[in-house]
Amino acid sequence: MIRRIQMLINGAWLDALSEDWTVIHNPATGDPVAEVPVGGREEARMALEAARRAFPDWASAPAEERANLLHRAADFMRGRLEEISRWLTLEQGKPIRDARKEIALAAQVFDYYAEEGKRIFGEWIPTGSPHIRSLVIRQPVGVAAVIAPWNYPVELLAWKIAPALAAGCTVVAKPASAAPIAATEMIRALHDAGLPPGTINLVLGPGRTVGAELVENPISRKIAFTGETETGRWIMEKAARSIKRVSLELGGQSPMIVCRDADLEKAVAAGVRRAFSNMGQICISVNRIYVAQEIADAFIARFVERTRSLRIGNGLDPEVELGPMFNEEVRRKTREHIADAVAKGAWVLCGGCEPEGEEFQRGYFFLPTVLAEVDHSMRVMCEETFGPVAPIMRFRTLDEAIALANDSPYGLAAYVFTRDLHTAFYIAERLEAGGVGVNINDVTELQAPFGGWKESGLGRELGRWGLESYLELKHIRIALDTPG
Ligand code: NAD
Repeated sequence: MIRRIQMLINGAWLDALSEDWTVIHNPATGDPVAEVPVGGREEARMALEAARRAFPDWASAPAEERANLLHRAADFMRGRLEEISRWLTLEQGKPIRDARKEIALAAQVFDYYAEEGKRIFGEWIPTGSPHIRSLVIRQPVGVAAVIAPWNYPVELLAWKIAPALAAGCTVVAKPASAAPIAATEMIRALHDAGLPPGTINLVLGPGRTVGAELVENPISRKIAFTGETETGRWIMEKAARSIKRVSLELGGQSPMIVCRDADLEKAVAAGVRRAFSNMGQICISVNRIYVAQEIADAFIARFVERTRSLRIGNGLDPEVELGPMFNEEVRRKTREHIADAVAKGAWVLCGGCEPEGEEFQRGYFFLPTVLAEVDHSMRVMCEETFGPVAPIMRFRTLDEAIALANDSPYGLAAYVFTRDLHTAFYIAERLEAGGVGVNINDVTELQAPFGGWKESGLGRELGRWGLESYLELKHIRIALDTPG
């Protein structure tokens, strides 16, 4: 019999009330990995109630006490790193080396916020009267509902759970229903670390029932969500009814600008990695490459050569650099975007189809694809593909490159490659994005804010900003008489 996982509500591990189960399959082989309970609205309500009951004690616990528990959970995760990483590869498909990184980073996030939670300082404010004192304190917002997608199912949940708990909020967590196993193991680490019952709850089931209840139920005072822009829009509308706090990390369509003076080798290596790792299923993936006309031929030739050398296969193989895609839906969308581009005149320089070979027959494999002769009439240049496609377009002037990069409803990340400091600042300051990488292909830094402009989101995670979003301000105004 395959493994069964359970939900955690009020400190107890439970099956779904319906006793329904769904099977998670390995995207590399199609083999069953685990059975997961299909929870519904009632389980979400039970979890919210438990979190509400647990809130007063957790909110008033000393920061030091909360910190110790978070550190302990991080230690437990590191102690079980191999096992949890393996589950992540089995359910999501990513190479085991990337899975290990994700689990290690999630543990690091718990350590970081354990300490950051000790610095929730207040302020003493000057007033207009010698008899009045004004104090500003920061208090936890209440029950936080945190909802994550399948592409980084552990890390993105950790980005929310860790600051929420450190701030003194109690939490109901909902991982993506299609990739909940490794996330459940992270919640187990928190439970095993000794968090009081109801402080951390885990509900499993579809977004349209379990997720919707977490959003609509008045008990949750904060919704932290990562996922598609359309889902985020729906959540924001629903949250508006009870003026809930929301933070939304949504879709992206990140541009990379390669200037004529860029270090070609570095730009190619960085671009290939960020376009194809996790099979392009990353919100900050490089989705569009704009390269200066003068170096375009050389850049494209090297980019294609490097792309062809990537090793594809079952993520459990330690040599593999690219695993399968997550499911047929994302693979179909990738095919559609490529077909649309080709119909409008794009050239497929490599990839564009599934790899050949017996070992690829049962999984959702797809070859990393490079397109040239693309323009903004093509879906691949203006919609989020969420697949392994790198379309490359030439530009003549920096202003043209900036205008093309900003020609998108999204604004999550952007990348610039140049050796010139003036050019770097000229471009970085003009890009409409929450994060800009200069000569680097990642904008994620634990201490710095992460989030999107425009339709890529609202609010910021990580750093002190990530903690702030779980806190409310309170002004305490005090009148003093002269004693006597
Ligand atoms: P999704 O929006 O389909 O689902 C995300 C989560 O929301 C899942 O847990 C799902 O069950 C839940 N959900 C779905 N409908 C809901 C509803 N009505 N109410 C409450 N919850 C609901 O996204 P996905 O397909 O899992 O993930 C891929 C998307 O996530 C991409 O668009 C990607 O760009 C985005 N993403 C963004 C970031 C970022 O930081 N900006 C990071 C990773 C992924």
